Amino acid sequence: MIDLRSDTVTKPSAAMRQAMANAEVGDDVLDGDPTVLRLERRVAELLGKERGLFFPTGTMANQAALWLLGERGTEVYCHEDSHIVNWEIAGTAGLIGLQPRLVGGAPVLEPEALREKLRPASPHAPRASLVCAENTHNGAGGMVTPLAKLQAIRAVADAAGLPLHLDGARLWNAAVATGTSLAAFAACAETVMVSFSKGLGAPVGAVLVGSATVMAKAWETRKRFGGGMRQSGILAAAALHGLEHNLPRLHEDHRRAAALAAVLATIADLRVVPPDTNIVMVDLPERHRAADVVARAKAAGVAISAWNASRIRVVLHGDIDDRAAADATARLQEVLR
Ligand SMILES: *Cc1c(COP(=O)(O)O)cnc(C)c1O
Repeated sequence: MIDLRSDTVTKPSAAMRQAMANAEVGDDVLDGDPTVLRLERRVAELLGKERGLFFPTGTMANQAALWLLGERGTEVYCHEDSHIVNWEIAGTAGLIGLQPRLVGGAPVLEPEALREKLRPASPHAPRASLVCAENTHNGAGGMVTPLAKLQAIRAVADAAGLPLHLDGARLWNAAVATGTSLAAFAACAETVMVSFSKGLGAPVGAVLVGSATVMAKAWETRKRFGGGMRQSGILAAAALHGLEHNLPRLHEDHRRAAALAAVLATIADLRVVPPDTNIVMVDLPERHRAADVVARAKAAGVAISAWNASRIRVVLHGDIDDRAAADATARLQEVLR
């Protein structure tokens, strides 16, 4: 089975497992784990922020950012298809006490749409406490928000006096696809979350970065959420290995996604969203259900996912080389024709 359901399905390589086995560790809750500290410093430096904190998951790091920047009983502006809104089990409501105010009208958050959604100050309406952006945008097929647009979003947030959190689970892909530095993207936001369990191929892990002031309570927040980990250097070693060995090869995933999309785009009646990065979204014609196509692809040896009733999602990642990608493309072409 060629598994193209997500870039989370990558298994740690032999070299990554070796790096994990060799990791120097300590008790990170008690007085710090040297490998975790090394990862936190490295990521903070890459993203141009003062401090980084290692979390077991991107979801927990996103929720911690909402906790740190948001204010209970206020609103958070999010794109309607964002991960924070759709895939974090209503943590905004359940954990933080924030009401999401959804911005739509385009596949990703647009500065103008955000500006139009802002409520005029009123003693009768909710106040807002923050804005969240996502780059690349998972729900839009790994779409990149270019630096100029992110800066415009930041300007709208600034004008409203709101901090910005960036869900950058796949910020790596945005940087590779555009040549824009991670730090330039990160400069637009108070806090940024980056994930190691997607294209970078680590088993788990994310880092939240921000200024020393914003991050002052982050350690306490992580502990409260149950994210204090002990000899977590074993996990941080996998993340460091991913940064060193898998970040430089992300462009290959993008190239393979573009090639796959180009072939599927030749099939009549399909609408293929041209991929900016490693995710290919395909809208099916009326008569086809995504679930049926997923089942037929599985029977043909390719695992893909149904994004909604009429859209399938195909994701390229580090465990898929040129041969596997070409093989999967041919099989999907057969299924979709
Ligand atoms: C995967 C993902 C997350 C969450 O990361 P986990 O480590 O799986 O919890 C958050 N945001 C986006 C955009 C993601 O793709």
